[in-house]
Amino acid sequence: MNIPQMQPLMPATHLASRLAETTAISVSACYQCKKCSAGCPLTFAMDLLPDQVIRLALLGQMERLLGSRTIWVCASCVTCTTRCPNGIDIAGVMDWLKEEALKQKAAVDQPEVATAHRFFLESIRKAGGRLSEMALMQRFLIYKLRRQPNLKELLDNAKLGLALFKRRRLRLGRPPVIKGKGEIQSIFQRAGV
Ligand code: SF4
Ligand code: SF4
Repeated sequence: MNIPQMQPLMPATHLASRLAETTAISVSACYQCKKCSAGCPLTFAMDLLPDQVIRLALLGQMERLLGSRTIWVCASCVTCTTRCPNGIDIAGVMDWLKEEALKQKAAVDQPEVATAHRFFLESIRKAGGRLSEMALMQRFLIYKLRRQPNLKELLDNAKLGLALFKRRRLRLGRPPVIKGKGEIQSIFQRAGV
């Protein structure tokens, strides 16, 4: 997988220091061992490997990163983070880049994934820190029906939802109330989500 040559949008140190300031994640210790990419289950669908994302962050290639497919393909499974010998939270970097792409209104390679990401976070915020899977499904269904109704896709999704429900992987009721709702709200406010 080749990384195209691009001019940095911002000085390399600026991107890395902004990342460190907002997330406390430092990428400077990366020595390109590629253990993160070797463990990632979704590299087949990515245009940049996780180690390349970290390398480009160090090089200040913000534009290339915000326009990449990888940040939206990433499922936040955190495998890369647990494998990194230098303790770099690569999954956290992916999350930060997603939010930056939305804030900067970057052209998103996977608009539906970006929408699902936004609905997911809004659902958690509204439910006070827990995910209301029903609310999330309803909202995404309405979005899909308005945007591009596709009967086959809806039926496939309904089958998948039923299979998940049968395996108790899908909760239809309200999520349980948790303590510390105020803290959750303040986290969202601080993150500007
Ligand atoms: S596992 Fe860590 S040190 Fe190795 S390439 Fe990935 S981010 Fe860099
Ligand atoms: S968090 Fe994202 S980049 Fe890391 S291993 Fe999982 S899917 Fe891959």
